[in-house]
Amino acid sequence: MEQRRALIAGNWKMNGVSADGLSLAEGLAACARRASDLPSDAAAEIPPDIAMALPCDVLVCPPFTLIDRVAKAVAGTRIAVGGQDCHAKVSGAHTGDISAEMLKDIGCGYVIVGHSERRADHGETDAVVKAKAEAGLRAGLVAIICVGETEAERDAGQTEAVVARQVSGSFAAGGTPETVVIAYEPVWAIGTGRTASPEEAQAVHARIRAELVGLIGADAAGKMRILYGGSVKPSNAAELLRQPDIDGALVGGASLKVEDFWGIVRATE
Ligand code: PEP
Repeated sequence: MEQRRALIAGNWKMNGVSADGLSLAEGLAACARRASDLPSDAAAEIPPDIAMALPCDVLVCPPFTLIDRVAKAVAGTRIAVGGQDCHAKVSGAHTGDISAEMLKDIGCGYVIVGHSERRADHGETDAVVKAKAEAGLRAGLVAIICVGETEAERDAGQTEAVVARQVSGSFAAGGTPETVVIAYEPVWAIGTGRTASPEEAQAVHARIRAELVGLIGADAAGKMRILYGGSVKPSNAAELLRQPDIDGALVGGASLKVEDFWGIVRATE
């Protein structure tokens, strides 16, 4: 079986002003330093091979306004920082938008694209999401491409067809296991407390991987990480993460509390 290093990614959504955002970031940084057996002093010298000291890759995606300060708060730990969205273009007359290059410039390593809330609130189509994912790659970011069916689509038995269509329509040209992560997030499970059962989620993840085989070949598809998202918490994370095609989690609500988010990180151990 392929060895894929798990990724636990926190999506803070539109939550946090300076005080609570920074205290969350500092709390996570403290957990990462403890887990890596690092000095609590943020300025201390970090040995270059400490990356594997955390049980998985860890990412936080704060609102744009906090990215710069959160990046500074977690500097020197292995916690990566990402944006929740980006525009497809490098720059220009796009009031209110942020480019992938701007995210890179302030310390981001990742960008989430095509979250269902953006697809629903901003009418983002697969073509728009694909262009954003490609912008992420252009800027040197890892693009986390989100897909997931609505409850009505699930009830109509269309889950796998919908998700496969979203994956092929949103996938970044030239995407590799190093530059793209897929996140399967059933819309009905986001922020609702309802979660797909591990078996249900595994079946969709396996279908996504089969779709990836057609897009990038079996070898690359076997190495690409597919995250599950939708009401993941410390109490259900381990069981989900045990499934063979679930390679981590995209976490909303539970990423806003240090102990909950770190509990999910530890569930990958
Ligand atoms: C999300 O929005 O990406 C998400 C998974 O949210 P929650 O964990 O709150 O369901």
